[in-house]
Parts: sequence; structure tokens; C-alpha cells
Amino acid sequence: MKHSFDPKHFTVKPGTKVKLKNFDPAFTGGISDKQRAKLELQQDIATLAAAQDILWANAKYSVLIILQAMDAAGKDGLIKHVMTGMNPQGCVVHSFKAPSDEELKHHYLWRPMRYLPRKGEVAIFNRSYYEEVLVVRVHPELLERQNLVSDKRGMDLWKQRYEEINAFEHTLVRNGTLIAKFVLNVSKEEQRNRFMERLDNPEKNWKFSAADVRERQHWNKYQHAFEDMLTHTSTKWAPWHVIPADNKWYTRAAVADLIAGMIDKERQHYPKITAEQKKALEEARKQLVSED
Ligand code: ATP
Ligand code: MG
Repeated sequence: MKHSFDPKHFTVKPGTKVKLKNFDPAFTGGISDKQRAKLELQQDIATLAAAQDILWANAKYSVLIILQAMDAAGKDGLIKHVMTGMNPQGCVVHSFKAPSDEELKHHYLWRPMRYLPRKGEVAIFNRSYYEEVLVVRVHPELLERQNLVSDKRGMDLWKQRYEEINAFEHTLVRNGTLIAKFVLNVSKEEQRNRFMERLDNPEKNWKFSAADVRERQHWNKYQHAFEDMLTHTSTKWAPWHVIPADNKWYTRAAVADLIAGMIDKERQHYPKITAEQKKALEEARKQLVSED
């Protein structure tokens, strides 16, 4: 981990009330030069690839990376760049769109359950079950399709969901899943620039969505939903990181650096071989040598 990406700049301390205005979307940790950030990213990609190899060899732990953000914050580009060094065999990406009829007939944690990483794997959630306290909170009419049973404790629905999510994640962590949660924090001005770029640049026209511009009108409601989510679901076992997203090169380098640092030293060794296995390896060697 390098100073420019020190988690203290991004990590939401559990139990603190989050105000997004205290997180600068244009922060670059003192790096003014895009080239340097790209070099750092390359180094971190190599570290990540090595860490993933060991994760795969041990098949004991798994990594779940969760990305949440406003539109055009750079989730897609981040996934494309940060995952370039990974072994595709051990890495899956799942994008969470509006839930299907089948999914709506289940509890909202049923959907992610099916896409969780197996031991040894890395899974990336491009959006996630957190949409249930973001888009659904901004558009409570979406709840009508969910046919919910009311909470007998008279608990606020969102608080209830935070509690469920925290317990869900705690269960996963206890089973060896490392959860890395990122909010890409883009400013309203930069989002506008990126939408304009999608309109102006023919190669980006396909990315433009009128629906995204409509969602932008709910900017303040979204900011509030994000703040409340960060306040209540940043836990000791699965803390949130708010990543500055106005400069794509910084976002990518910071996320790669944080993930590389999180796959901690304890997990960074290949499986240890028992005396018995060692003997079997020697036997196999003898057999191969005797062939020629
Ligand atoms: P991109 O636009 O970059 O391709 P995206 O993640 O914005 O990526 P879209 O297909 O544009 O993908 O949007 C997916 C939509 O599905 C988002 O508007 C999101 O809010 C919505 N969505 C995801 N989960 C839920 C949910 N549980 N309930 C309702 N809507 C959801
Ligand atoms: Mg979209």
C-alpha cells in the first residue's frame, strides 16, 4: 500500500455518521501525474494477479468485491482495467440489473447468494444487493412489486435491511470470504461532463441513456441514501471505502492498491505440503525419471 492510496483517506470507520461532502471526489493523494498513477496501477495489478494465484491454490478463502456508484462513475472501466491481470478461471463478474419476476418472489438476498465466489475465487458485483437500500429507497414505489410482510417490531424498513445485510456479510466473512466494498464517489459536475461526452463522441453514443439523465434529477436523494447506507453498513468485518471518482486514473489505481493490500500476508503463501504428500511427490518424480 502506497501513501497516496492510504486507506485512511477512504475507509469509513464503523459507527461514524457519514457526510459525503467530507469526501472530495477530485482527491488524488498528491499524485498530479497520470503516468505515475498508471505505473502504480501496473504494479498493483501484478500484486493482485500473484495474490489471486495463491488464493486459487489454497481454495480456502474467497474475495467478494462490491461496486456501487451513481451512473458514469466508472464502474465498467474500473473492472476492465483492474482485472486485466487476473486468471479468468478464478474470477467472475456479475452485474445486478432490475430484479426478474422470479427474483422478486424471493428475499432480496437470494439473488446474490447464487453468485457468491467459491473458495479460491474472486467475484465482482457490479452493483449488488445494496441497490435495495439505494434505488429502491429513492423510488419506494419499487417496493410494491416486492409484496413484503411488514416488520412486527415496527422497525424502519431500511434499518431492517441494513441489519440483514450486516448479518449476511458477517456469515460470509466467517466462512472465509474477504469483502471489499467500494463506492465510487463522482461529483455531479463530472457526471454531467461524462454524459455530455457520451452525447458528443460517436464512439460513446451507445453508452448514453436518457434514463441516467432522469435519475440525475434525484441526485440529492441518492446522496442521502448513500450516506445512510455507508453509516449503517460499514462494519468491522466488511467496511466501506469511498473512492474519489472524478479522475478515472486515480480511482483505478486506488481500488487496485486497496484490494492488493487487503489480501493480507496470512493468506499469501501456497499450500503447505505434508510429509506424506512430499513422499508421494518423490514417488511421482522417480516414476517420471525412470521413463527415460
Ligand atoms: P451501464 O449503464 O454502465 O451499462 P449499469 O449498472 O448502470 O451499467 P444498467 O442496465 O444501465 O446498468 O442499469 C441497471 C439498473 O438496474 C440500475 O438502474 C439499477 O439501479 C437497477 N437495479 C439494480 N438492482 C436493482 C434492484 N434490486 N431493484 C431495482 N432496480 C435495481
Ligand atoms: Mg446505466
